[in-house]
Amino acid sequence: MAFERLPKSVLVVGAGISGLLAATVLKEHGVEVTVLDKGRGAGGRMSTRRIDLDNTCAYFDHGAQYFTVSDGDFAKYVERWLALGIIKPLNGKLIRQNGEPDLSSETRYIGATGMNASTKYLADSLRVFFSERVDKLSFEKQWTVETDKGKTFTADALILSPPVPQSLELLKKSNVPLPSDVETELATIDYHPCIATLLLFDSVDPILPASGIWFQGEPIAWASDNLRKGISPLPTLTIHAGPMFSAEHWQTTDSIIVETMCAHLKDWIKAPIKLSQVHRWRYGFAKSVLDKPFVMVDSPAPIVFVGDGFVAPRVEGAAVSGIRAAHALLEHLRA
Ligand SMILES: Cc1cc2nc3c(=O)[nH]c(=O)nc-3n(C[C@H](O)[C@H](O)[C@H](O)COP(=O)(O)OP(=O)(O)OC[C@H]3O[C@@H](n4cnc5c(N)ncnc54)[C@H](O)[C@@H]3O)c2cc1C
Repeated sequence: MAFERLPKSVLVVGAGISGLLAATVLKEHGVEVTVLDKGRGAGGRMSTRRIDLDNTCAYFDHGAQYFTVSDGDFAKYVERWLALGIIKPLNGKLIRQNGEPDLSSETRYIGATGMNASTKYLADSLRVFFSERVDKLSFEKQWTVETDKGKTFTADALILSPPVPQSLELLKKSNVPLPSDVETELATIDYHPCIATLLLFDSVDPILPASGIWFQGEPIAWASDNLRKGISPLPTLTIHAGPMFSAEHWQTTDSIIVETMCAHLKDWIKAPIKLSQVHRWRYGFAKSVLDKPFVMVDSPAPIVFVGDGFVAPRVEGAAVSGIRAAHALLEHLRA
């Protein structure tokens, strides 16, 4: 369906799933949208890491591992991605640490080439600037955003999709005040950290007996085999430490983290490790979320907070937050 152009502009901070879906909905309705992300590519916590080797590449889903869908509005996008082959159902079983199979009947989706596939697809149709960290916001007739590269962008409204503590920090350092009740409510959104260990093996076979294994939670919460998932031509493992281990070992050196994770997985890791990396997700999972899809403040001009701090602390929660926020902002801009 073609929509009339709405002569308004919106800046979206963050090219994760919530920011990109919000931007997509706005663009579909004729709004001029610009997305800025500090990262080198789309996805945020749905990123896929690529390591270039001599003749090939190894891939790791190092944040979100799969997503599920129950919301009708999100489902429309998911159906489109499925039809285009951008995502696929997760094939290969998931098991628990004791070997029990996963009996859930819910369909779990993964990106066909890695978890960032759907966000890459969305970003390709939008005006997105990567490697631009938003450092300052100010308002004079319009919002102005300054990035670490010294670029400025202006717009009638802002959508902030980083984890809420980071968005609040940005407002604070920009001296942009929020109504105190809104600030208090947003300040309740807090996150667990997650340390991800990435291992590449010198082997031609998968390492795990399943695509993914749920562990007891501490020190390891999850391990997945990216070769079995079908996103890496080489056997690679993604291991997520539990929130307690991650908080306690935030400053621990990478080599000790790798050693600890491998010691706990010694029953599975038989092949020699060719390469290891550690990624620290400071804002991994929201501990609790607000029971509303977004928060909008409209003075001096709209600022909308979105992401996985609303609805549910996972991909679908963030997606629904972005979609609902964009529709609400459209109504506001049309009024
Ligand atoms: C280890 C791990 C495993 C997970 N596993 C699952 C799973 O299996 N299933 C599931 O459903 N969910 C999972 N999740 C949760 C899921 O990844 C998130 O809920 C979801 O991706 C959040 O999307 P978002 O758009 O809200 O935020 P993000 O993806 O974090 O996007 C925010 C974006 O804002 C950008 N940004 C931040 N500050 C700035 C700034 N100042 N300037 C410019 N850009 C900025 C960031 O670079 C980022 O790209 C997992 C998360 C982690 C960390």
